[in-house]
Amino acid sequence: MTIMTISDSKNNKANQLNVDVVIFGGGIAGLWLLARLRQAGYQTLLLEIESLGAGQTRYSQGIIHGGTKYALTGKLTASSESIFAMPKIWRDCLQGKGELDLSSAMVLSEHQYMWSTPSLMSRLSGFFASRIVRGRMVAVKKNDRPAVFQNKKFKGKVYQLDEPVLEAASVINALATPNMNNIMQIKLMTKFSENQFNVEAADGETWNITAEKIILSAGKGNAALLKQMGRTVPEMQLRPLQMVMVRGGLPEKLYAHCLGASVNPRITITSGEDKQGNIVWYLGGQLAEEGIHRTSKEQINKAKKELQSLMPWLNFSVMQWATLNIDRAEPKQKEGQRPATSFYFEENNIITTWPTKLALAPNLANDVLKRLEKQNVTKSAAMEMPEFSHASIADLPWQEEDKWQH
Ligand SMILES: Cc1cc2nc3c(=O)[nH]c(=O)nc-3n(C[C@H](O)[C@H](O)[C@H](O)COP(=O)(O)OP(=O)(O)OC[C@H]3O[C@@H](n4cnc5c(N)ncnc54)[C@H](O)[C@@H]3O)c2cc1C
Repeated sequence: MTIMTISDSKNNKANQLNVDVVIFGGGIAGLWLLARLRQAGYQTLLLEIESLGAGQTRYSQGIIHGGTKYALTGKLTASSESIFAMPKIWRDCLQGKGELDLSSAMVLSEHQYMWSTPSLMSRLSGFFASRIVRGRMVAVKKNDRPAVFQNKKFKGKVYQLDEPVLEAASVINALATPNMNNIMQIKLMTKFSENQFNVEAADGETWNITAEKIILSAGKGNAALLKQMGRTVPEMQLRPLQMVMVRGGLPEKLYAHCLGASVNPRITITSGEDKQGNIVWYLGGQLAEEGIHRTSKEQINKAKKELQSLMPWLNFSVMQWATLNIDRAEPKQKEGQRPATSFYFEENNIITTWPTKLALAPNLANDVLKRLEKQNVTKSAAMEMPEFSHASIADLPWQEEDKWQH
């Protein structure tokens, strides 16, 4: 890596920075890649335009899927197979003995629950007997269930699923902190040509950056970057969601999927805390996917009805609700389907990535790392990074009071 200051014909000063790899975007994909590439010896710089985790990552439910949820048809799918190994990789990192040290990240729950309504039990028998489910899901006895499912009005069955749930902001923090000197907060990118481009940093300084490889990990921002770089492929698809948050009168934190009639859970509940320490339930699943055509008010009414039918014993009179619109950014699939695996595509030294799931970030980083090693991408001699504007870490949506508009 080299650093110097150059002047153009008008004597405007630009700082010059030459690195092996540049990554655009500091969500889970970019930060996991940054950590792995630096560990492997590549001089790597990450550029973030908003704040770390500000895209989909902070909206995620933090579930480290092992694929069980996707085997609801009773069959193994490509999706469930590629994701099978993820909980172990993450658990090793969380215990400080994996490929990265995530021991400072917060595990919200070691496992999740799945529950079913009595009417669905017979239809789901194939699922509970399937290979992927056996040994990974156990029926929970009444007294060991979360308190919400101990109410005598609850008639369904509860299973414990061996997949952890993490607090996304703490994962971002754990990944970013050791690499902060290699993360630049930028305002915009200009003048892209080949392996060279200019960025304006948050402090107004201009940097002329060259890199042997450019990795796009900017989530939804990949499309605009590709366009700016004169590329038409790979194409992106957006899958919008309207998530729901509720607080007030909730008995406990809950991490559970309610099984429904489709491949997607009818509702997925994860939990967090607002700035005052109140418990917040964050509701996704089919409710969020189907909710995109509803207004915020209609979506809240739908969410209320769902919870009232599933847990009528809760105190609904004190609850406060809000909705969040967020797009999942993914490689384009036939008929807009959900991609089965993480994705990368290289054209002329630009590698575009979408992990497609938080859980698959290690898989994506591994694939990209293998590719760089195979191509003998340069590993320049280690050097201190120069001083530049550093990025901050995004808040979780339920901790932003202005999101609670209802
Ligand atoms: C509501 C919701 C719930 C989810 N729940 C789960 C779950 O429970 N488990 C799971 O495994 N997956 C889940 N996912 C999927 C998962 O969150 C995403 O696949 C993952 O977070 C994508 O990470 P990313 O780093 O690719 O993108 P993002 O998190 O979107 O990050 C992109 C980053 O790039 C930055 N950026 C944008 N443009 C530029 C630019 N021009 N220059 C520099 N930086 C730029 C953004 O500011 C942002 O920081 C969920 C997704 C959503 C939306």
